[in-house]
Amino acid sequence: MTTRISHWIDGRPTPGTSGRTSPVFNPATGQQTAEVDLAGADDIKVAVASAAAAAEQWRSASLSKRSAVLFAFRELLHARSDELAAIITAEHGKVLSDAAGEIARGLENVEFATGVPHLMKGGFSEQAATGVDVYSIRQPLGVVAGITPFNFPAMVPMWMWAPAIACGNTFVLKPSEKDPSASMLTAELLKEAGLPDGVFNVVHGDKVAVDAVLEHPDIAAISFVGSTPIARYVYETGTKNGKRVQALGGAKNHMIVLPDADIEMAADAAVSAGYGSAGERCMAVSMLVAVGHAADDLVGAIQERLPKVKVGNGLEPDSEMGPLVTREHRDKVASYIEKGSEEGAKVITDGRETAPDGNGFFLGVTLMDEVTPEMDVYKDEIFGPVLGITRVDTYEEAVRLVNENPYGNGVAIFTRDGGVARQFQFEVNAGMVGVNVPIPVPVAYYSFGGWKNSLFGDLHIYGPEGIQFYTQGKVVTSRWPDPATSKVDLGFPQTR
Ligand code: NAD
Repeated sequence: MTTRISHWIDGRPTPGTSGRTSPVFNPATGQQTAEVDLAGADDIKVAVASAAAAAEQWRSASLSKRSAVLFAFRELLHARSDELAAIITAEHGKVLSDAAGEIARGLENVEFATGVPHLMKGGFSEQAATGVDVYSIRQPLGVVAGITPFNFPAMVPMWMWAPAIACGNTFVLKPSEKDPSASMLTAELLKEAGLPDGVFNVVHGDKVAVDAVLEHPDIAAISFVGSTPIARYVYETGTKNGKRVQALGGAKNHMIVLPDADIEMAADAAVSAGYGSAGERCMAVSMLVAVGHAADDLVGAIQERLPKVKVGNGLEPDSEMGPLVTREHRDKVASYIEKGSEEGAKVITDGRETAPDGNGFFLGVTLMDEVTPEMDVYKDEIFGPVLGITRVDTYEEAVRLVNENPYGNGVAIFTRDGGVARQFQFEVNAGMVGVNVPIPVPVAYYSFGGWKNSLFGDLHIYGPEGIQFYTQGKVVTSRWPDPATSKVDLGFPQTR
């Protein structure tokens, strides 16, 4: 018996009306566990109508009331974080500790958003002209939507709804249909925290639902996180329809290892960042660029570590890497191992040979050496536990590889030379840079976003830029009746 997952509209679970559903699997067992409703345009209309109806009351709620709801949500989620982690593991496959990490990093965005009374402060210029004051305020946009990927079913939605709601918007979330349940628990907890009905809605679905969101005239802004082709499509279609859009896409993150690096530290980092969450992170390291004599030592140190990576059901406490999200995705990732070897890469460790038995969507860890930029295994975002190594002679060649890559999400350099690290930070074309840090996801009080094909739009997500994205500025020029300064003057207003 599988459970039915419906939408969450106007503060309650709401069955879909489209008649379309999609199966949800436990990737560790390969079993179907649920059936999720897929929204049609009519379901989106109902959700947006609920969000629109709640908008006036919510934007009028005081800053401290909005902040208080977020504080309450934080406490409730802390109390139930094990439950949410288990839900994530059961539908996504990542190990429990990783799911807990995702929740913790997501909560940092909720914590940041509790500071909304400070974050929404405007500016004030007294006496801009005689008797005239000028001040700026930031106001919410109205109904805003978020469309999120499968790989962080709790954290990425928190990147969006926490600042959006804090700023006084109402929200329609369209999470990934592959792991929809985390959003439903989020909705329940927000209601329990005191959020008025209609302020946060969840509609499940696929392209049909996304298209209805892109076309709905009452949605003012859309945040998207997912793969590059869909990010581009959402940005182009959403902006054509007059919406403000930030669309974060895929990645091919390089980690450069210079000859002077601490090789043991670099190998630990490469294994953690390459295979954590089975490589299904947009900030995962997928290409190692080994400079000069670093290569042989690095390959040796990684090889030593790989047999110890414990692949298994994410619910088992000793598992370090779970399965991939779907059977199709596992097969696609596995096909890249074949392709790499056909293209001339040297497959040092083949994950197809070490996948645990059973019906789960498992793949072991794969290491490929001698990967070159023309190969598909270099060019494509594989999004699985496959780490490639490219060998170059100089730092300059390594930087050129990164800068010529069409993606520009995260990048890392491993070195002991502060001068080189500083030069690298200056000249590298990527949005998030790590110096001896392999997954440089910015803390919540900075903003997250890549360059080039990793982001469409001009504002990064969450942090200060998130507040900017979910608000619009207004400038008020004001004068109060004062007999001393009042006279008829048909000239253009002067400030002096
Ligand atoms: P995806 O692009 O397949 O799906 C993302 C969202 O778009 C989902 O909600 C999905 O239902 C919807 N969607 C899928 N196909 C669509 C279509 N044809 N038209 C309209 N909407 C569609 O991505 P995914 O597989 O869920 O997630 C993995 C991808 O997300 C990777 O490329 C990864 O790099 C990227 N990602 C990027 C970031 C970032 O911050 N840049 C973060 C996490 C994930």
